[in-house]
Amino acid sequence: MNKRTFLKLGSAALSTPVLSSLFAWAQDEKLTNWAGNLTYGSEQLTTATSLRDVQDFVSKQKKFKALGTRHCFNGIADSTDQFLSLKGMQKIVALDSAARTVTVEAGMTYGQLCPYLDSKGWALHNLASLPHISIVGACMTATHGSGEKSGNLSTAVSALEFVDATGKVVKLSRQNDGDAFRGAVVALGALGVVTKITLDVQPRFMMEQYVYQNLPLQELKTHFDAIESAAYSVSLFTDWRNESINEVWLKSRVEEGKAFDAPAEFFGANRATRKLHPIIELSPENCTEQMGVPGPWYQRLPHFRMGFTPSAGKELQSEYFVPRQHAVEAISAVQRLHDQVSPHLLISEIRTISADDLWMSPCRQQPSVAIHFTWKQDWPSVSKLLPVIEKELAQFQPRPHWGKLFTFPSKQLHSSYARIPAFVELSRKYDPQGKFQNEFLRTYIFSSVA
Ligand SMILES: Cc1cc2nc3c(=O)[nH]c(=O)nc-3n(C[C@H](O)[C@H](O)[C@H](O)COP(=O)(O)OP(=O)(O)OC[C@H]3O[C@@H](n4cnc5c(N)ncnc54)[C@H](O)[C@@H]3O)c2cc1C
Repeated sequence: MNKRTFLKLGSAALSTPVLSSLFAWAQDEKLTNWAGNLTYGSEQLTTATSLRDVQDFVSKQKKFKALGTRHCFNGIADSTDQFLSLKGMQKIVALDSAARTVTVEAGMTYGQLCPYLDSKGWALHNLASLPHISIVGACMTATHGSGEKSGNLSTAVSALEFVDATGKVVKLSRQNDGDAFRGAVVALGALGVVTKITLDVQPRFMMEQYVYQNLPLQELKTHFDAIESAAYSVSLFTDWRNESINEVWLKSRVEEGKAFDAPAEFFGANRATRKLHPIIELSPENCTEQMGVPGPWYQRLPHFRMGFTPSAGKELQSEYFVPRQHAVEAISAVQRLHDQVSPHLLISEIRTISADDLWMSPCRQQPSVAIHFTWKQDWPSVSKLLPVIEKELAQFQPRPHWGKLFTFPSKQLHSSYARIPAFVELSRKYDPQGKFQNEFLRTYIFSSVA
């Protein structure tokens, strides 16, 4: 039987929450992803606590995968060889007020960074639905929140430090490294082990969150732009059952000229009179504050609070990005499938993201709308349904979320991500032997490139 190894697990470290959670994995039978739908192909897990640890490990190993907080639903983070975790590296390296950046070690989560930043008077431009994820793991897969004018979370990255396959430290920045930097930010873990990441910050801000119920789908189709631009961040939740959006979550900055005035009715939807979970049957206890109660940016931008299980827990997720100009048609296309979709669904979420220039970003050179599905954990049924949805959306050249479940063949990914060949070339520079590759990367990125 495979036994997990902990090269750097000192006895003092065992008392820390970080390393004791690694120890908890050692007690379990299997190492799985967060949702438990994927049992990883190896139980060999090493944790690094310093740059030197990472360099030593990389130099000695033939093949492995860096692991973040394990929140991906597909095999992108999987390995049949072994894993390196940077959970032991969670320090703030520098907060540079003049440059408006913060640099952190790669094991840190948003949940750890945000309260610190806020206490120093700073904020990030956006966050995903949950703060529990590692910053590097999120940026490697172009994780996003919502907001007409907000890029995904990777667009906040202004510099990276990583260890390449030879054990050498590479530093790339937006300012100095042009194309190589744009190729390295959303890198799917394929270029090296990221050890430090630098993010843009802005002065802290306060927000209010309002939820509206039962927005008629026809109103959404007629007024999509007005609805999406009504607040700093807008999320639409639907189960596609009743020709309506079940809940509209509006997150507004409390600033002059930007606040949302929260009328009782919003395009035919009614302002909620109590706090709600996106899945209305579930308790809203784990959700961020609503009903217009003002609070700091990091306690309103995510839907779910740190310290609680986000989302539904036992679930699967898929998400497709389509060009923003096709938003209404794409929503109608999914709506046509409601009979097939709804029985397997917990909830869908529709969000907008602005365009960026990162090679492997689903929003590269196109403002996008992302149609997300949180499924019941029934892969046999979901795996049959995804090709149906993908076929219906094919006319819009959808790009799948890198960390969620999809069934596109690699050829189709190559046709929608124009920079894959350049990305493959870049990865050959830093990892000529494919040390950081796994089955997912070989199938979808490296397979059809000579
Ligand atoms: C409940 C839930 C809610 C979610 N909400 C959202 C959402 O709102 N928006 C959204 O876009 N996504 C969302 N996701 C998806 C999630 O954000 C992504 O899957 C993200 O990649 C998770 O980060 P992680 O650290 O857990 O990644 P992991 O699964 O651990 O790893 C992801 C990738 O990053 C690489 N990686 C990790 N650390 C390093 C490192 N140090 N160096 C190099 N490579 C590294 C891994 O090798 C792998 O390729 C959600 C997922 C869940 C479970």
